[in-house]
Amino acid sequence: MDTEEKYMSHLQGVVKIPTVSSVNDENTDWSQFDRLHQYMQEAWPLIFEKLSLTRIGKASLLFHWKSENPKKEPVLFMAHQDVVPAIHEEQWSHPPFGGEVDEGCLWGRGAEDCKSVLTAEMDAVEELLEEGFAPDFDIYLSFGHNEEVQCTPDKKGSVLTAAYLKEQGIHLACLFDEGGNVEEGRAGEPPLALVGMAEKAPNEFVLYKDGAGGHASKPGRGTVLGDVARAMAAVEAHPMPYRLTPLVKAHLKAVAPLQEEPLKSIAGHPKKNWKKLVRLAGNDRILDALLHTTFAVTMAEGSSQANVLPSHAEATMSVRILQGDTVDSVTRYLESIMPDGVKVKASFAENPHPAGEVKGEMFHLLSKTIHEVYGKDTVIAPNLMLGATDSRNYADVCDHIYRFTGRVKTNRWGEAHQVDEKMPVDKLDMPVKFIKTFLRNYEAK
Ligand SMILES: [Zn+2]
Repeated sequence: MDTEEKYMSHLQGVVKIPTVSSVNDENTDWSQFDRLHQYMQEAWPLIFEKLSLTRIGKASLLFHWKSENPKKEPVLFMAHQDVVPAIHEEQWSHPPFGGEVDEGCLWGRGAEDCKSVLTAEMDAVEELLEEGFAPDFDIYLSFGHNEEVQCTPDKKGSVLTAAYLKEQGIHLACLFDEGGNVEEGRAGEPPLALVGMAEKAPNEFVLYKDGAGGHASKPGRGTVLGDVARAMAAVEAHPMPYRLTPLVKAHLKAVAPLQEEPLKSIAGHPKKNWKKLVRLAGNDRILDALLHTTFAVTMAEGSSQANVLPSHAEATMSVRILQGDTVDSVTRYLESIMPDGVKVKASFAENPHPAGEVKGEMFHLLSKTIHEVYGKDTVIAPNLMLGATDSRNYADVCDHIYRFTGRVKTNRWGEAHQVDEKMPVDKLDMPVKFIKTFLRNYEAK
């Protein structure tokens, strides 16, 4: 079997196992995680033989490659084992858990998010073991089991794993997780390596009001649900003001040369062109999300029956907090715009962690590795992740968290969480190459 076939068959093997996570442990089919662990043991025998394995929480895995001669801080690579469900299976052109290869792609739930990260990390470490690599630092591989669900910290695999490392007194030199990839350049343009240096903090806020309830034949001037509806409208009418964080400024400046006009000139000097940037952001969801804490009203609830006045009404919002805001400051902001006595509470609260530094020894090593693997002309752009990853829970044990996988993103990717998620197989070697090169460069340092 050549290496491309090997990488493909490993990804196929793990995609075929439906490790769907759920908020409540009782609803999770744990036998699928057992199957995955069994498969991993068969696919990567040296890792299971030479590394120690700690099972954490319900099904998280932490592999530890202990150096015989440790001289520097450990490096950790992570990914999550779980996937989101494939609810509308009939919409898929290939079965979501079939692992079929067609048109040069491997189709299935998790192919992109993020089993191809897990397999690349396992393949890289297995190959280094085969090659007799003897690092002067420890290497960890960490695979959470419930990244995709918003569960409480006492159940979250990544929270428990980071706490375990902290307990052991371990501090990491750096870690890598899902997030940024290397985007293939358009004709004549260099590739773009996006390195996630921070992420917005995922929060849930509830807007609510209680009332007396009663018979719907005597509503008076309205209901608490109507009041909550006005609160939702107020939220959409009063978004938090835009501002430019240092990370987003660095990101815009780095990607500017690859953009088309007018963004090219505007992003190149975002401060000078602030008013133009603000206008652009009004029609660009990504730019909009980079510039402020966002509110998305996603669920609403009133009475359970049409002829009963609601005694409680509420709307739930997904709130993504940008560095510089906090749960408290966002709560105060929302309270200041609430009409009609509607109250605000955070039902899932988390402050954003500060952004990593786009300089220093480790970032330099990362940049050097990227240029070696993807070409000298590769543009490296620090990035703010809009979605959340497990890596944010490692802030206590690591100062250099890189949300970067080394995968090469082409226009044939089928995106995460969508129908027909897929991954081209001809580029599966690149993340393996990246991980091995990075580890060898760190060893040589
Ligand atoms: Zn993911």
